[in-house]
Amino acid sequence: MNKMRVGLALTTALLANATLAQPVAGDLNVRWNPGAEDCAANPQPPLQVHRYDATTFILRQNPCAHFEAPLLYLLIGDQRALLIDSGAVEDEASMPLAKTIADLLPRSDGASLPLVVAHTHRHTDHRAGDAQLAKLPGAEIVPIELEDIVKYYGFKSWLEDTVKIDLGGRVVEAIAVPGHMRDHLLFYDAKTGLAFSGDFLLPGRLLVDDIDAYRASADRAVAYLRSKPVTAVLGGHIELDTNGEAFSRGSTHHPNERALALAKQNLESLPAALQEFNGFYSKYPNFIIMNPMRNLLVLAAGVIIALTLLIWLVRRLWKSRGKRVLTPA
Ligand SMILES: [Zn+2]
Ligand SMILES: [Zn+2]
Repeated sequence: MNKMRVGLALTTALLANATLAQPVAGDLNVRWNPGAEDCAANPQPPLQVHRYDATTFILRQNPCAHFEAPLLYLLIGDQRALLIDSGAVEDEASMPLAKTIADLLPRSDGASLPLVVAHTHRHTDHRAGDAQLAKLPGAEIVPIELEDIVKYYGFKSWLEDTVKIDLGGRVVEAIAVPGHMRDHLLFYDAKTGLAFSGDFLLPGRLLVDDIDAYRASADRAVAYLRSKPVTAVLGGHIELDTNGEAFSRGSTHHPNERALALAKQNLESLPAALQEFNGFYSKYPNFIIMNPMRNLLVLAAGVIIALTLLIWLVRRLWKSRGKRVLTPA
């Protein structure tokens, strides 16, 4: 009997632990403002804030404020807050990012929580807001040079380590996922089970800079998250509509935009998709893989061939015309 009771208590404790380890689900049901073809005629707020839970916020810059329409993530701990990416707009008059973040940060004794501003990678649409955030008291901006990033987070081995960012009662981890950019990071928040994947994986164009690095990163990201509960994978942009068609590059209008969240299975499908990538362009239901540099080179080669052909044709026509003029009737 006693044995049974102990066994029952143990099972209950184990079950309680397992329940505790599961992340608490938040709210991903949001409709982002779509921007417009004519932004002047359809004014919308430059920055939209969505409350995922009491200490997690998703911010989206309107396509009219910047066509990249990046997504930013604010995670609040007991001691510090972490902002993942600072967006595409530096000017605080047109993009009230610092003010919005300051309003979201909890205050105690008149001072707001210290803020760490991290970046998924150094492309300017993910860090242009640094300048205005740096003016906030208690804000610390993570540097953008790779060597400084390695030092800041304490990576001993850039491609093998998992580093921890302790926010107080909330630990966010990061691993390196180069391929889109050599300094790219993927963040994982155990509290919510959210993975933040920047431009490495998003519902849109995955722009390949280094395919070998990208493939290795996809393998490592899958292995890293395999045993972890992942509620959603959240990227840096949404570039597809609900039919899986991409908005044209540079468009300030995102009608019928698809949902932001990708599933763990989408990440797990990435290694195979990258393996079969033809080097130029491959389309999948949830993302498109492309190499912009190669496509540009192919386009340039096409233009050169077309021009060469045209010149050859014109010269041929010119010669035959000359012969006809010389031939007596
Ligand atoms: Zn990028
Ligand atoms: Zn981007």
